[in-house]
Amino acid sequence: MSDRPHGRKEFRAVVDAEIAPHAGRFDREQAVPDSVLRRLGELGWWGAILPAGVGGAGLDMVTLGELHEEVGRGCSSVRSLLTVHSMVAYAVSQWGSREQRERWLPLLARGEAVGAFCLTEPEAGSDAANISATATRQDGGFVLRGSKRWITGGQIADLLLVFARTGRGVSAFLVERAHPGVVTRPVNGMLGTRGSMLAEIDFQDCLLGPDALLGPDGFALATVVSGVLDIGRYSVACGCVGIIQACMEAGAAFTAERGGRTKPLSDHQLVRRLLTQMVTDVSAARLLCRQAGELKDRQDPQTIMATWIAKYFASTAATRAASDAVQLHGAAGCSPGHPAQRYYRDAKIMEIIEGSTQIQQIQIAEEAYRWTAR
Ligand SMILES: Cc1cc2nc3c(=O)[nH]c(=O)nc-3n(C[C@H](O)[C@H](O)[C@H](O)COP(=O)(O)OP(=O)(O)OC[C@H]3O[C@@H](n4cnc5c(N)ncnc54)[C@H](O)[C@@H]3O)c2cc1C
Repeated sequence: MSDRPHGRKEFRAVVDAEIAPHAGRFDREQAVPDSVLRRLGELGWWGAILPAGVGGAGLDMVTLGELHEEVGRGCSSVRSLLTVHSMVAYAVSQWGSREQRERWLPLLARGEAVGAFCLTEPEAGSDAANISATATRQDGGFVLRGSKRWITGGQIADLLLVFARTGRGVSAFLVERAHPGVVTRPVNGMLGTRGSMLAEIDFQDCLLGPDALLGPDGFALATVVSGVLDIGRYSVACGCVGIIQACMEAGAAFTAERGGRTKPLSDHQLVRRLLTQMVTDVSAARLLCRQAGELKDRQDPQTIMATWIAKYFASTAATRAASDAVQLHGAAGCSPGHPAQRYYRDAKIMEIIEGSTQIQQIQIAEEAYRWTAR
């Protein structure tokens, strides 16, 4: 739609006016208010990844990355909500039956249904193949049993993308949060992305129809999980570029001003060194994200590795930049409500979600062996 923002400059202006100034409050109140969630719908940001034909913004992947970078610069909690929602929307668009697509995509595109991604369990995180939730066949449908943990948006989501074991392997299911037997409990006090309204979700003998199954029965790990995590990882990588950018801008503004009667902090070489690292990191991380986005737009399978690399670099660089941003601000950066300490807490989360730093180190090393085998 023509009145919706559709480029980096416009995304940035909206984030500066409507999201960044309130991010501290979202963090403190551990919630993003309904009014902001509705506004994301007006902006077309819930449906950014979906085609215009179903009411989405139809952004290409490079532009989607720019949107998630700008939102991540303003507020990692809002970006996290958009990330998991985009993952669910992508899953329905790629693997949904005609009925599932017709029913859910227009609602997901407008944000009238918010999606959450339910993979992690109390005993299974990085090792997703070890999930123990089950969906047992009964009367032509399924009985879903199990518990999911740390589900972003789980407090407010309407549509849950749930992974469970059937007799054939791991399968994906679309489950409404309002469905009988779905029990959610808020998770508060997380280190970072505190506004992203996490929940624990139990599925207590949920009776699902056969139409709840999304994609091929038993093959979700190789299809839906991998495809959707790739999208989530790309979004998180871009969000990390935003965190580094925010750290750089805050660090430069503070050190240019601060210095008392002698000379500003910006005149000290050791201060400039920290900013130099941020400037270099943000440029490199942005280029890696762009490369991953361009490969996605060309549907080149090399995007998978490019996205691992982008996320690994951007998330570790964001943690470093946020730590240095606190350092540059001294006690002010450690103070309640200061953006630098929020960046620090949010950045650390990025090294854990969508493939932890260690899991990426294992994966990316494969690339070195591939090169030597050529
Ligand atoms: C804020 C937040 C939001 C989240 N949102 C969601 C969500 O919406 N949906 C969802 O399904 N999950 C969500 N999660 C869960 C997240 O996906 C998991 O935390 C992540 O997959 C890691 O799993 P884990 O926490 O169980 O850690 P573990 O897998 O137990 O790992 C613990 C540590 O061991 C390391 N490790 C694990 N395996 C290896 C290995 N083979 N070699 C070397 N080191 C290893 C890890 O890197 C990590 O440092 C969220 C988590 C957080 C913190």
